[in-house]
Amino acid sequence: MRHIKDKDSTDIEGRPLADNERFAFSCHPGLQCFNQCCRNLNLYLYPYDVVRLKNRLEISSEEFIDAYTHVVLRNGSHFPHVLLSMAENAGKTCPFLTTEGCRIYSDRPQTCRAYPVEQAVYFKEGRPRLLHYFRPPDFCKGPEQDRFWTVKSWESEQDAGIYNQMAIQWAEIMGLFTSDPWGAEGPSGRTARMAFAAAYNVDAFRRFVLESSFLSRFKVKPDLKMKLKKDDVAMLRLGFAWIKLAVFGIRTGYLSPKK
Ligand code: SF4
Ligand code: SF4
Repeated sequence: MRHIKDKDSTDIEGRPLADNERFAFSCHPGLQCFNQCCRNLNLYLYPYDVVRLKNRLEISSEEFIDAYTHVVLRNGSHFPHVLLSMAENAGKTCPFLTTEGCRIYSDRPQTCRAYPVEQAVYFKEGRPRLLHYFRPPDFCKGPEQDRFWTVKSWESEQDAGIYNQMAIQWAEIMGLFTSDPWGAEGPSGRTARMAFAAAYNVDAFRRFVLESSFLSRFKVKPDLKMKLKKDDVAMLRLGFAWIKLAVFGIRTGYLSPKK
C-alpha cells in the first residue's frame, strides 16, 4: 500500500477502480500462467507482514529479517524499506513458491493479498482515503475468467481486513518520514535503529519494552499493556505509537510519557 500526498499525486499505472466497480478475476492452478507472477518481484513487506511470516516460519523477527529480506533506504524517504529477497535461481522465484503454489498462502503478505489490485492511501483531515488500481501483468489470465468482484468483495475473499488496517497505519507513519527527523544522529543513529526495531523487529522491541525502564518512563494504555508479553500485534501497535511519540513528538491514546 503506497502512501501518496493527495489523490492527484499518484503515479500508479492501471485502471482506477471506483468503489462499486466490478472487475473480472480468478486464479487457479489450471491456468497456463500459474505461478508465473511469484518471481522477480520488488515485494515490499510491511511490519504486519513480518509478524505473520516469522510466526508462520516459527523463527524470530531478527532471523526473518536476516534470512528473507533486504533493507534499503530509498531517495526521498528517511526510513528504510524492507523487501522480500527472491531466491538466487534463474527465475528469481519467491522463496515461498512451490510447484503447488504459495507454501505460506494463509500468511502471504498484504501486497500478494491485494493483487491484482494495487492500493494507495492519502490522508485528508486525519482520515485515510484509499485509491485502488486494477493492474494485473500482461501475461496474467486471471482477468479473462468469469468471476466478478468489487474492491470490497475481493478484500473480503482475500481475508485482507487486518492486513489493510495495519498497512494504513504504517503508511501514515511512512508519510511522516518524507521529512528528515533524525537531525545530527542521522539515519543510522540510536533512535533510527530503535524505530526500525519498533516497526520490523517485534521480538527485539518486546525485549526493549519489557526488560528496560520503558514501562516506568511511559504510560501504556492498560488493555494494550496487558497483551504485550505474548501478542505481537499489540506490540506492533505500541511500536507505531512509540515511533510517533519518540521520533515526531505526536501523542496517541496508546502511549504517553509519565510525569
Ligand atoms: S498470473 Fe494471474 S492468474 Fe496467473 S497465477 Fe498469477 S495471479 Fe493467478
Ligand atoms: S508470498 Fe506467496 S503469493 Fe506472495 S509472491 Fe511469494 S509465493 Fe507468491
